[in-house]
Parts: sequence; structure tokens; C-alpha cells
Amino acid sequence: MYTVPELGYAYDALGEHISSDIMQLHHDKHHKTYVDKLNAALENYPELQGKDIVELIRDLDAIPEPIRSAVRNHGGGHYNHSLFWKVMSPSKENGGTGGGEPTGPLAEALAEKYGSYEAFTKEFTAKALAVFGSGWAWLQPDLTIVTTSNQDVPLMNGEPEPILGLDVWEHAYYLDYQNKRDDYVAAWWNVVDWDFVAARYAQFSHNS
Ligand code: MN
Repeated sequence: MYTVPELGYAYDALGEHISSDIMQLHHDKHHKTYVDKLNAALENYPELQGKDIVELIRDLDAIPEPIRSAVRNHGGGHYNHSLFWKVMSPSKENGGTGGGEPTGPLAEALAEKYGSYEAFTKEFTAKALAVFGSGWAWLQPDLTIVTTSNQDVPLMNGEPEPILGLDVWEHAYYLDYQNKRDDYVAAWWNVVDWDFVAARYAQFSHNS
């Protein structure tokens, strides 16, 4: 049985950037629903129940057809949100490690590819704002920026795991920002945990 991981920080720890109300609803209700529906889909497939979530969703063609859509949507939802909680940390003024700019090899590689950190965030933001309807924006280990619809994630298509992901479903921001996705994305940069992203870059970039 899959379970919702702990948030790792308090619901209100992201301060004014993402409210406690959103975090509680998003983690306890939305993520839990993906997990519950994934577990329900796998009820009659015990051989799939113990798989690591990455292994489960990496090869959707191997999933029996009757539950393939459910695994794609709810397994994707589980993977994506599990990553999303970790790419965020309270901002530094709130006692965490979020915000600021990346350092080390990731910073150098981003500057090499995009010209500067600012140019990178501008391009990532533009792509996140351009997602039509519900979806995600991702940074891949080769530092390309890609977007997906619904709960899809690049690793479903045989690509490497993303190192950074941004949820642009309305449920991720509507309570705080209503229809202003641009304000949400601007605020979100203040809580990105670059130490975590840099560790994933170090882990995955050699294989991409
Ligand atoms: Mn979400």
C-alpha cells in the first residue's frame, strides 16, 4: 500500500508564500486522494502493490490495460506531489533553506545553459504560465524545461526523473492567489530548496 509521506515541515512554514490552508488541503486531501485511488486501482494486482512508485509508473505499457489510466493519473499524482513537498522548504527568513539561488555545479550549469539564474527562472516561469489547464513544469537533469498535462511526468516517457517540479493545478494556488498563477509562481521561487535540487542534479545528471 502506498502512503502519503510526511510534509517535512509545518503546514504554515511556507509563510506568506503558500498558506497553511493550501498546504493542508493539498497534502492531506489532494495527495491523499491520489494515494487512495492508486491503492484502490491496485487492489486486485498484488504483484504491483510493493513496487517503488518510480518503477510502477516508469513503464506504463507494462501496466494491465484496465488500470493503466488510474496508475498514470493517481500514481503520477503520488510521485509528483511526493517530489513537490521536497523541492520546497521554508524561506530563509522563516528558518528554512528555501529561496535564494542555487550554488555549486548546478548554478554553474544553469548559468552556462541560460546565461544567468534570472534568465533561467524567467524561462521556467514563462513555460509554467503557458501550461493550459492543469499540469506541471519540470526541470530535467539535462536542465531542459518541460511541461506536462494533468499528473503526467517525464519519467513516464522513458526520460530521467525531474530534479525540480512545479504544480500549476489551480488547487495548488487558488485559495491564496485566485486566478493569478503568475503571482503564485513568483512567490514559489522564494521557497524552492536549491540544496535538494542540487543533490538531485548530482544524482541524476550523469545518466541523462
Ligand atoms: Mn497538486
